[in-house]
Amino acid sequence: MTSIRQKNRRQQTGMICAEKPILIIEDQKSLGIMLQGMISERWSCDIHLASTLEEATKLLNENNQYLVALSDLNLPDAQYDKILDTLKAFKIPTVALTGEFGAELREKILSKGVVDYVLKDSINAYSYVVDLIGRLIKNKAIKTLVVDDSKPIRLMLKELLELNGLEVITAENCNDAIKQLKKHTDIKLMLTDYNMPDKNGVELTVAVRKKLGKEKLAIIGISEAHGTNTTASFLKNGANDFIHKPLNFEEVITRVNQNLDMLGLLEENYKAANYDFLTQLYNRRAFFRIGQETVEAASAKGKPITVAMLDIDFFKKVNDTYGHDVGDIVLSQFSQILAKHFHDQLTARLGGEEFAIVMTGIPSSLAEKRLERLRSAVEETVFDEDGTSIHVTSSFGVVNSQDNNDLDELLLIADRQLYTAKESGRNCIIIDQA
Ligand code: GH3
Ligand code: MG
Ligand code: MG
Repeated sequence: MTSIRQKNRRQQTGMICAEKPILIIEDQKSLGIMLQGMISERWSCDIHLASTLEEATKLLNENNQYLVALSDLNLPDAQYDKILDTLKAFKIPTVALTGEFGAELREKILSKGVVDYVLKDSINAYSYVVDLIGRLIKNKAIKTLVVDDSKPIRLMLKELLELNGLEVITAENCNDAIKQLKKHTDIKLMLTDYNMPDKNGVELTVAVRKKLGKEKLAIIGISEAHGTNTTASFLKNGANDFIHKPLNFEEVITRVNQNLDMLGLLEENYKAANYDFLTQLYNRRAFFRIGQETVEAASAKGKPITVAMLDIDFFKKVNDTYGHDVGDIVLSQFSQILAKHFHDQLTARLGGEEFAIVMTGIPSSLAEKRLERLRSAVEETVFDEDGTSIHVTSSFGVVNSQDNNDLDELLLIADRQLYTAKESGRNCIIIDQA
């Protein structure tokens, strides 16, 4: 069993966890163990080892839920075709590890629908495998949109991308693509053809980029032929990359993976700059930026605004009694309660054990009720760490407004009320009456 503390650590180190195990089939046991070590150093996942096809089949029968199989193509009891056919029958995405290589074998392997093949010739090859595993783990959470008016190409790309773990949605023209993007706001990659009946792929790219920046969505244009200016046109109008037809599957996947890696880095950068590491809430800087915009937009439309500042009571005691690590866990669990109660509003950790909420478009009476529900939920929660039950309470300072669009001023008022809440015995909500 993983303790909350271990989970918290994993989250903090940003270690990515695979939900399904990985199967390594390799008759050179030392090689299998080395690969296992390299993979588990980078990714948090269960790894099962087999050295014959018989052993692998036994494992597959016991656990048909592998994320991927890394398989040698030359085992004591089977050759590549039998091995790949077995893995295909179990519908396990497979990365082939080969000792030798030729154009003919490459064609044969690829025709068996493997995710990728790796020549076992150097340590670089194993690093490539480790990166590839990471890509497959991360792909599980990635939705991709394929836009092409040709049904065979749509299906071919869908199959290829799904083989690489991605979740794929298809659209047959630009209008359909825009609809799908509105419906699935979590699409992170779009591959689009150029020639389509309603608009072309570049026009689609321009329309999409008005709403979604490069840190939100990667776009790969598919251009007809070399020698035209479609490629440059895609790139100049917001596409991240392009692929020429006729499609080479290895190139498609390599470019898709590269673009997803880049998107991942942009996302990580955005997260590091805007979110608090421990609690995953917005940090102070993001809070002031987004909060000021939110307050201005609400006040321009005459919508009610409520700003609350919260502080955990006697938090120093929690640290002094149970240690800083446990204090961190309480902060993180407290933040989850806060985020759950105000998932539709702006919440942030301002620093230490101090938090803020900006609510807009909610009548003050309802806002106050919701804050009271949060205060009472915190009071009733048993913060539990390795059998130790911890109780905390929290104090709130609140201000309601309709026309003040200066977040700094509103926070100053809320902070004064928070001070009064502390003075009045804590575990209470004080609302500015001005
Ligand atoms: P009050 O009811 O007046 O708010 O009392 P308090 O003890 O909560 O307030 P005080 O400001 O005296 O202490 C806040 C404590 O929060 C001190 C500090 O060590 C702790 N703290 C701040 N940031 C963190 C953090 O990231 N992790 C942990 N574990 N503790 C933190
Ligand atoms: Mg406190
Ligand atoms: Mg404090």
